Amino acid sequence: MTIPDSIDTDELTTKRQTIADTGRDMLDQGLTKGTGGNVSGRVGDEYAVISPSGMAYEEIGGADVPLVDFEAETLDGEFEPSAETPMHTMVYRQRDDVGGIVHNHSPYASTFASLGEPIGPSHYLIAFAGDQVPVAPYETYGTPELGKIAADTLGDEYNACLLENHGVLAVGDDIGSAFETALMVEYCARIHYQALSIGEPNLLPDDEIERLTESFAGYGQQH
Ligand code: 13P
Ligand code: ZN
Repeated sequence: MTIPDSIDTDELTTKRQTIADTGRDMLDQGLTKGTGGNVSGRVGDEYAVISPSGMAYEEIGGADVPLVDFEAETLDGEFEPSAETPMHTMVYRQRDDVGGIVHNHSPYASTFASLGEPIGPSHYLIAFAGDQVPVAPYETYGTPELGKIAADTLGDEYNACLLENHGVLAVGDDIGSAFETALMVEYCARIHYQALSIGEPNLLPDDEIERLTESFAGYGQQH
């Protein structure tokens, strides 16, 4: 196994460590349990680093994180890459703007996934994902079929979708922003669930979601 010459080794080392750290962040934030979920980051135009399959997040160090190509083949690393590598690589091939991907089984979002129901726009933070969080129809975990239906459901416009009877897929321009979107999806799912439990949520109109999307692009210290 060799690391392609085109890869910047400092970038590779940093991203491997970010994958390891983000796995622990998922646990700390209650987005996953056990070894569920996975995290990846784009490396250059053709490669990605991705969490190893079935390893406790507490035990993953940067050096344990496999490097794969966009055919989901391992190029470097001692451990098997995530079972969902085909899903991650399919999204990278389809979306040039995506630099990081987080998949998890966060409880409120997974409740909607098990109902086959999108998360509606009842809270303004839904705009991190789009005008809703749509549902990719069920396929078995780890299959190319799941990767294809998830990439199709994201299309060019969504930064997150639900995987029916399974969990959440969130993307961003880097690993940190994919993680933040995954957090927002879980928060919005919880608010939507609570609102539906006691009444009929007010849903934001499409033109307001467009305004929010533009506003988020310049939010905080981004200027
Ligand atoms: P991995 O441990 O292989 O990443 O699989 C976990 C998972 O969430 C499968 O969908
Ligand atoms: Zn999963």
